[in-house]
Amino acid sequence: MSSAAKQHYRIIIVGGGTGGISVAARLVRALKQPDIAIIEPSEAHYYQPLWTLVGGGVFKKEITQRQEKKLIPHGVTWFQERVTELCPRENSVTLSDGRAIAYDYLVLAPGIQLDWHKIKGLEGHLGENGLCSNYAYEQCERTWETIRAFQGGDALFTQPASPIKCGGAPQKIMYLADDALRKSGRREKTNITFLTGTPTIFTSPAYIPALSKVIARKGIQTYVRHELVEVRPQRKEAVFTNLEDGSELILHYDMMHITPPMSAPDFIQQSPLAQTEGPQKGYVKVDKGTLQHPDFPNVFALGDASSLPTSKTGAAIRKQAPVLAHNLLAMIRREDAGTFAVYDGYTSCPLVTGYGKLILAEFDYSLKPKETFPFDQSKERLSMYLLKKYALPVLYWQGMLKGRA
Ligand code: FAD
Repeated sequence: MSSAAKQHYRIIIVGGGTGGISVAARLVRALKQPDIAIIEPSEAHYYQPLWTLVGGGVFKKEITQRQEKKLIPHGVTWFQERVTELCPRENSVTLSDGRAIAYDYLVLAPGIQLDWHKIKGLEGHLGENGLCSNYAYEQCERTWETIRAFQGGDALFTQPASPIKCGGAPQKIMYLADDALRKSGRREKTNITFLTGTPTIFTSPAYIPALSKVIARKGIQTYVRHELVEVRPQRKEAVFTNLEDGSELILHYDMMHITPPMSAPDFIQQSPLAQTEGPQKGYVKVDKGTLQHPDFPNVFALGDASSLPTSKTGAAIRKQAPVLAHNLLAMIRREDAGTFAVYDGYTSCPLVTGYGKLILAEFDYSLKPKETFPFDQSKERLSMYLLKKYALPVLYWQGMLKGRA
């Protein structure tokens, strides 16, 4: 440990995104003397769920961005640095400037890593000549520019086999593109193809029939178990690996929306806190009910960086944050583990199927629907689209990030 390890906080939170700020707000509300530090390198905080509607031309990207400093709860110290190493045996974290900071309790919420480099030939070409993605703030507006400029031809939409944040987002933008092309008379000149590395088009089987109907109605060709591995921008070719038999599929594109492969952040993967096997390998190992690390009980994690075996969404974090805060406070108050709260795997995906249409998928670890409203949520509805467009952002900024919802 470096000499700067004198610095000590009762609670350190790594990541000031959805999970980090939600938990910080709850802890600050509960503790008289919080003594909390958040380590977050970015000046900006993003409401990523709206990037889908930015890509669909509904909003400008700036509406999704706020200054991080305005969201960090009062009384919490902000280190505008990146964590480079986790040392749970010493109860400390190392920052990019070399300082080590010690803690009594650690909360990990650094999100998921986008592995653009795993797609050969893509570097330097995203956002140009028909290649776009909603998976980055700087890129999501280009998606709309790409759709607007598209004159018909082959439109591809990809999803990797790896876990991703918001499993529905790769197809939501496809449905919006289809709708935009229909409205402007270009759909008849267009072939739309969805290629996903996953074995099915959606995690919860309950919503697959409704989505399959949307795909059939829109005349979209679908391939499962097909992973985008290479782009050849000069020839406008996309190379896919068939994950069943290893064969290659080369398709021409005029536009392609890419969802990159994703993985746990490197510093998590390289740490003693990572899950070492199974589908959650590399993510922070936590108990799927209590969100506590089984080997280092003073460590908790939530959100995209955690090994929680549910779909990675902000909606899931809305249910994880109260559980984590409750259990961490129980530890601080030396309460019995029997008083711990338990997370049931709840997650939600508002599946936009067109302008003014949305299927609101909600489910838990069982993958069975766990719905909020007293009607069939697998039906496309205008009311649910309006919920996503107007109500959920308010719930996020005013409720979740303030520890109230
Ligand atoms: P993030 O919110 O990504 O925050 C992680 C933070 O950690 C970042 O601020 C980052 O700067 C910081 N960080 C990274 N590395 C380090 C480090 N080394 N040290 C310190 N800090 C670090 N969710 C929904 O619920 N509904 C939706 O409709 C929806 N749609 C989506 C559409 C798109 C296009 C995208 C991209 C996401 C969507 N999501 C949706 C997913 C949702 O945004 C994420 O699941 C959620 O933001 C994850 O929160 P998090 O706190 O785990 O990570």
